Amino acid sequence: MASAEGEFLKKDKENIKLKAKSADDPVTLHCPKCGGFVFENADICESCGEWLLEGKCKFCYADVEEGQKFCSECGNNPEGVLCPSCNEWGHFDFCKNCKIPLTEKAKEMLDAFQNSVEIQELSTMTQEEESLTELNPYENEDIDENTSIEINEETSEKKESFDNLKSYLEKFEAQNASENTSKPQTPASLETPTKKTVLEPNPSSQSKREPVDFGKLIANNRKESLSKTLKLIEKSKIKVFSNNQESRSFHEALQSSLAPFIKNLTCLGWLCNAYDNIHCDPEECAKPEDGGVWLYE
Ligand SMILES: [Zn+2]
Ligand SMILES: [Zn+2]
Ligand SMILES: [Zn+2]
Repeated sequence: MASAEGEFLKKDKENIKLKAKSADDPVTLHCPKCGGFVFENADICESCGEWLLEGKCKFCYADVEEGQKFCSECGNNPEGVLCPSCNEWGHFDFCKNCKIPLTEKAKEMLDAFQNSVEIQELSTMTQEEESLTELNPYENEDIDENTSIEINEETSEKKESFDNLKSYLEKFEAQNASENTSKPQTPASLETPTKKTVLEPNPSSQSKREPVDFGKLIANNRKESLSKTLKLIEKSKIKVFSNNQESRSFHEALQSSLAPFIKNLTCLGWLCNAYDNIHCDPEECAKPEDGGVWLYE
C-alpha cells in the first residue's frame, strides 16, 4: 500500500505539475490521499494532514525501512505516536488535539521553556499578583470605608507574606511613579482594565502603615506581565528552523508555556512566514521551518 502511494506521488510529480496562484509560489502537486494541492518537498498535506515523505521518519526525517518499529535516529515509531489522552495517532511531537507533549523531544523543549529566564520571571510575577489579590483587604464585601489595611486578626496569619510583599510593593510604587512619564503606552486593546477604586485611608484609623493601592498594583503587574508575554511571542516570529517538525515543536511549546500568562486573550491561529497564511496551528502548515507567529486578540 505504501509503495503504491509512493508510485502515485512520483507519477503525480511528473505529470500533474501545476502552477500555484502566484508566479512566486512554488510548483504544487496533488496529495495522494485527498487530491488537494501540496507544495513541493512538503512533509504534510495542508488539506488533510497526510504525511507525504514516504520512507522518512515522521519525527526526525531519518530514512526508515517499511515496518521499522523504532527510528534509529530519534527512537520514535517512525509511523506515529498514540496520544494517551485522546487515543488518536499523530505524527507530530505534540498531540494536535490535546496539545500535550508526546515525544521526548517535545518534553525536553517544554522543559527548556519552563526553565528559561523569561518564563521564570513571568511565573514570579503571576505569584506576586496572586499574593496581592489574596491580601487585598478591599476584596472583602464586608469591609467599609472605616476599615484600614492595618493587619488585623483576620489577616494576621498573612502577616508574614504581607511583610515579604511590602518591599515589593514599595519598589513597584516607586517604579510606577517614574514610569508614568517615561514608558511608552501599551496599545489600548491590549490593556487590562482595572475595576478597582482607590480607597483613601481613614484619618481616624490608628494605622501607621501607608495605604497601598492594591488595585493599581495588581493592574500594573498584570499589564507588565502581558506586555512581556506579547514581546516574547513577537520575538519568536524571526526564528527560523532546520526543519518543519522542529518549528512545530518550538511553537507548540512556546504557546503552551505562555498560556498561563495570556488567559484573557483568544488565539486566532498561527501566521506562517512562508506563505503569510493563518493556520489553526503550525501542524497545519506545510512550511513552518521558515518560522511564524501565534496571533492573539
Ligand atoms: Zn491531503
Ligand atoms: Zn526519527
Ligand atoms: Zn491527544
